[in-house]
Amino acid sequence: MSNIRFHPLSETLQRFASGDLDPASSIMISTHLEYCPHCRQLACSIEDSQAAAVLASETPEVEHTGTQNTIAPLSPDLMTMMHAIMTTSEPDVEPEIESGDDSVSAGMPTALILGDKTYPLPRALQRHRDRIGPWSRLPGKLKRAAVDVGGPQKMNFIYMDSDSALPEHTHQGQEITLVLAGEFYDDQGTYRPGDFIIQTSANQHVPKTRSGQDCLCLTLLDAPLHFTSGLATLLNPFSQLFFRL
Ligand SMILES: [Zn+2]
Repeated sequence: MSNIRFHPLSETLQRFASGDLDPASSIMISTHLEYCPHCRQLACSIEDSQAAAVLASETPEVEHTGTQNTIAPLSPDLMTMMHAIMTTSEPDVEPEIESGDDSVSAGMPTALILGDKTYPLPRALQRHRDRIGPWSRLPGKLKRAAVDVGGPQKMNFIYMDSDSALPEHTHQGQEITLVLAGEFYDDQGTYRPGDFIIQTSANQHVPKTRSGQDCLCLTLLDAPLHFTSGLATLLNPFSQLFFRL
């Protein structure tokens, strides 16, 4: 059922499950999990095995032959409680993204509004909705709204109108792009909702949208973009637009 082709690294899911990921990356992963049953299942089994490992490391081996000084194994109730603690300490990981408004508390804005379009806000961002800045227009039929998540990385919603292109660029650090709605493409393929695309300084690409097809993404940058081709190199100062809050 899922058409998602690009997923986070399993190492990143491990760090997410153990709570070692920075807040901004955790939001990216949580949002991907809203779309991706495959990674949800993976994250759950990682949590289970981490919980089991914690229990194993904290529960001395019980000698069944001895009658003295044995320590009782953890009761099933305690196991259940430990599991609940391990799994509820994670950021929001909800099974489905709802298209209706009845899934969230009344009075909470749950949508991104862009002109006459309305997009449901990912659940992972609902608690940060007051940190989403206004939309600003960028060259090339793009719009951007920054999300102030703290820390050194920069999170943005990027809206690409139909038939638009971002000039060819590389990344000085890492860029994660998560498609929320619509689709875009580059010379590597087409990216659809839920796709989690990791770009590094080794990648050079020209994201584009087709005519009649716009795209909304959530991006996380840890350094400014670096434009590489022709006139676009003049845009390098513009890359700061993506990077600043
Ligand atoms: Zn996935």
